[in-house]
Amino acid sequence: MNRCVICQCSAKKLLCTGCQTLIKAPQAGCRCCAKPLPKLSDCNNSRLCADCRKRLPVFDQIFCAGVYQSPGSNWVLALKFSGHLHWARAMAELMTPCLADVPLDWPLVAIPLHRKRLLKRGYNQAHEIARLLAQFSGRQALSDVIIRRKDTAMQATLPEKKRQANVRNAFAVVDRDLPPVVILVDDVLTTGQTLSAAAAVLKKAGVQQVYGVVFLRSDS
Ligand SMILES: [Zn+2]
Ligand SMILES: [Zn+2]
Repeated sequence: MNRCVICQCSAKKLLCTGCQTLIKAPQAGCRCCAKPLPKLSDCNNSRLCADCRKRLPVFDQIFCAGVYQSPGSNWVLALKFSGHLHWARAMAELMTPCLADVPLDWPLVAIPLHRKRLLKRGYNQAHEIARLLAQFSGRQALSDVIIRRKDTAMQATLPEKKRQANVRNAFAVVDRDLPPVVILVDDVLTTGQTLSAAAAVLKKAGVQQVYGVVFLRSDS
């Protein structure tokens, strides 16, 4: 019998059934950005949130395991700042079902950290999640597809208005044969600006479809 990576109780999988149910998938999310839709929008046949109806994002669709709230949000912080990679295992395990209907030949690409921050932290949490998610879902994780050329301020520390400017020109495609479809991997999606900026450079370089899979997405 294994031990649950979260609560240490005995478990058949990485997480015990109790810990698995701690992360709640958004019900009836936007079919593009996965933002939870208000109940009153039953008449909204397009299943698009107001933002996506106004302007479709650069990425094609977001898959997420849950909504940004505790305890999942604490796991995200623990992975980012404590360096204990068992959190990445738990997240990847819960993200695996999100990709159940997604073709296996669509590879994963982690949102990169800037070299300076990578050196300081010693690991890229998105890369750790991507590596495990690739293993669990039986697909490839590609590295060296995009790099972060700007050492941007952490999006979470900025007001929404400044986030787009912060990640503008933050990414560059590394010269290599690009697959026609890419699934970007990150721990969290808040306003979607980081994922959009990465998707934009990939599409500009010839990638036809760019999806995103995240552990948690905010509900606002
Ligand atoms: Zn548990
Ligand atoms: Zn949306």
